[in-house]
Amino acid sequence: MSYQLLKQDILFYQRFLKANGFYTARLDGSWGPKTDAADSIFVQRSETILRQLGSFDARSESNLITLAPKVQVLARKFVKLLQDAGNDVRILSGTRTYAEQDALYRKGRHGNTEQKVTNARGGQSNHNFGLAWDIGLFENGRYIAADKKYKSLAPQALSALPNLEWGGSWVTFPDFPHYQHTALVNSVADVRSLFEDGKGYV
Ligand SMILES: [Zn+2]
Repeated sequence: MSYQLLKQDILFYQRFLKANGFYTARLDGSWGPKTDAADSIFVQRSETILRQLGSFDARSESNLITLAPKVQVLARKFVKLLQDAGNDVRILSGTRTYAEQDALYRKGRHGNTEQKVTNARGGQSNHNFGLAWDIGLFENGRYIAADKKYKSLAPQALSALPNLEWGGSWVTFPDFPHYQHTALVNSVADVRSLFEDGKGYV
């Protein structure tokens, strides 16, 4: 999703801003001057991170701006590291609002004939808190789908970058393009509680 879409779900965005230390007022779902000020500070912080760590292709950038600042730092270091090693890595998805996650969850269910893409409903994925991103690998401009390419990249990134977690090491449903920042608590449910209360989780 894009930053513009993130902003349209005001309660969701207020939780995001509050949990990341940019907003201190009430989580009321209405866009007032305090939300506006918090939004400006978040955008400034994101721009500072971009200047310090470098920028990437437009799609990666549109996803990076939806991540929590600490996660932006890690994700930029991650892309830089792998690009410097000769890989065309791009970030294909970042934060999703609960509504977007629910829409993904409906794929392949309840009469929808598309392929299932997720087992997480809104509030059940680390993509819903600005913690996670998914990558795409490209060769000569073409998207690569093969798992083994994704598997071969992970060890280098994981050994170089503290606080990086990889979906490929999940036992039940390994998710090879998925990466995330470690959270301050262990379960997604606990991250969700902190996020919804506007408390720090990363
Ligand atoms: Zn993912």
